[in-house]
Amino acid sequence: MDKDEKTLIFLNERLEELKKMFRGHGVELKLNWMPGKFPVEKIGGAEYFLNGEVKDDTIFVYVTEREEAANVLMHEFIEQVLKKEFSEPYVLLTQMMSQAYEDVAYFRQEAVINVLVTLLSKATRTKKLLKLDIIRRVEDGGKTG
Ligand SMILES: [Zn+2]
Repeated sequence: MDKDEKTLIFLNERLEELKKMFRGHGVELKLNWMPGKFPVEKIGGAEYFLNGEVKDDTIFVYVTEREEAANVLMHEFIEQVLKKEFSEPYVLLTQMMSQAYEDVAYFRQEAVINVLVTLLSKATRTKKLLKLDIIRRVEDGGKTG
């Protein structure tokens, strides 16, 4: 098995972990790792190399290095969860908003996702489970877990 095959297996294992962590949020995504094939995208009048993106039901990761690729995978996965759970209903509600505002919101969301990736990658490395639910249900008597 060569290095790329090992990395691909590693990345698919990370994807399965993410699917387990976010079970119930309807995220069924596949991985397509294309090391070094960075596409260019225009966002808010400037061009950017993409490290990763989601098209249809597939996460594309373009970064070569293993740990970095795993973080890009995590970023794109979380971004899809946030889009599904927050952005889509929000966009429906605010269809009148300008493209300029959407661009600002996009970069703010990117920054938040990067914080989450940092937290999650530290948590997985130390094999500790992150408690993602910060809201306690009243009908459960306010107990966590
Ligand atoms: Zn992103």
